[in-house]
Amino acid sequence: MRLLIVAPILFLHTEIIVRVLKLDISGVPESWITLEHAVGYYATGTVAYTLGDPMSTLHGGHNRCGLRSTVDVHPIIAVNGTSAAGKLLSAAPRLTRHNHKLFRRDRYTCGYCGGLFREHQLEREHVIPTSRGGKDTWANVVSACRSCNQLKGAKTPDGKVPGAAGVAVSRAGATMPGASSPR
Ligand SMILES: [Zn+2]
Repeated sequence: MRLLIVAPILFLHTEIIVRVLKLDISGVPESWITLEHAVGYYATGTVAYTLGDPMSTLHGGHNRCGLRSTVDVHPIIAVNGTSAAGKLLSAAPRLTRHNHKLFRRDRYTCGYCGGLFREHQLEREHVIPTSRGGKDTWANVVSACRSCNQLKGAKTPDGKVPGAAGVAVSRAGATMPGASSPR
């Protein structure tokens, strides 16, 4: 008897929140989301695949023919878009004051004379000089030996540059540091 009285009270105070596990496209769990949030992904066609049998069916409005829309929500959904792992891999490392990553990307080679140098003999060179609006980005920097850097000065790649100017321009096309380990 006692249970019959207590049970409805417990039921009234127990809020059952159904959650859906959201994965990125590569299957890495991202977050728990509400049913309503999950329906948003179904409605926009961004659910790439689902796992498990539908655990809930949500009903929408009626169309002109009187048919009511329904969405079967699965316990696990993978959503299209950039994966968390992909974001990490595609994030370009920051250019640092010490230029280690830049010199490593360029394999310790001067972008102008093509010579191989030690790290302390190299400097960060802006292909389009900062004085001419060049930015401090991976696409606009190249390793240069000190003598080439001094000779180039504030000239643009179109101007008279020492050594193989074409090398510098083509190297600037390499916007990301190489993934290989330094030698
Ligand atoms: Zn040089």
